[in-house]
Amino acid sequence: MKRIQNYLLAFIAITGVLSMSDASAVDRPIAIAVHGGSGTINKGDFSPERENEIRQTLERAVRSGHAVLAEGGSSLDAITRAVTILEDSPYFNAGKGAVFNSEGKNELDASIMDGATLDAGAVAAVHNVRNPVLLAKKVMTASPHVMLMGEGAEQFGREQGIAFEEDEYFFTDYRWQQLQKAKSSPDPGASFLSETPDRWFSTVGAVALDSHGNLAAATSTGGMTNKRWGRVGDSPLIGAGTYADNRSCAVSATGHGEYFIRATVARDICSRIQFKNQSLQDAANEVVMQQLVNMGGSGGIIAADRKGQLALTFNTPGMYRASIDADGNVYVAIYGDE
Ligand code: ASP
Repeated sequence: MKRIQNYLLAFIAITGVLSMSDASAVDRPIAIAVHGGSGTINKGDFSPERENEIRQTLERAVRSGHAVLAEGGSSLDAITRAVTILEDSPYFNAGKGAVFNSEGKNELDASIMDGATLDAGAVAAVHNVRNPVLLAKKVMTASPHVMLMGEGAEQFGREQGIAFEEDEYFFTDYRWQQLQKAKSSPDPGASFLSETPDRWFSTVGAVALDSHGNLAAATSTGGMTNKRWGRVGDSPLIGAGTYADNRSCAVSATGHGEYFIRATVARDICSRIQFKNQSLQDAANEVVMQQLVNMGGSGGIIAADRKGQLALTFNTPGMYRASIDADGNVYVAIYGDE
């Protein structure tokens, strides 16, 4: 009798544990956010058609990333999927559609980080790479390094079967005109740093939480129009433009890179959560709306935490952004008042 009782108790205990884990698997939140850059984006700056296509591309990117998460896929795969869609679009300053440097070349930077393992990969100043985020991912998964640059990074990419494109693929008249305008300014060297109404950054990025509880972040950019001397911004720098750690959050930044580097924006937001127990939104507000503003640095971030909370925070008039939160709400916006 005692034995039967014990079996019964064991059975109840096991089914209890199983149903608990089943419930938590079902309830585990997934969430994703993407950005297509922050800056001075005012209503009427572009045609309704262009605005519509930008919104549609943001939505396609966030929905595609979310589909990966909904199928039980990893946050790394979800953000890679979302970022490649934005890189393939001519509307954003990453991959196709990247800005031109002072030599008239598209010089690309990207980074990616896995919050579960703290593995990271990054590339800086690479040319003709169709999807720099895929090269950054290869650096993370197929090399013993975190960051590769220039020709060496391109050689590594060729060895790894990464897709390359001719210069023409990256050309957009819109970006070319931006370069001509920057070059004709009275101070061409500094023009990309000056406060002009069309200072749109348009870097792209994504952050996600998957159903396994893992966070990831990625960022990709052409940097700043008319950049010289091999200038590299925050986007490929782990800790500045990108950071992910399951103990805190995942962040992808966009803005005036020189400030984001000095403020180590992405890591600072995560550290506040990890060490000060701040909420995601409080941490984002303090860094973006206080620290950066006090320094004079404009831009924004997207961030996700392990509860599936999202922050889309910027101190510029607008930021191209989209998200699907833990409740499945889809949000797409450009201007500050949306
Ligand atoms: N942060 C990028 C950079 O400084 C620019 C951007 O966000 O668009 O290179």
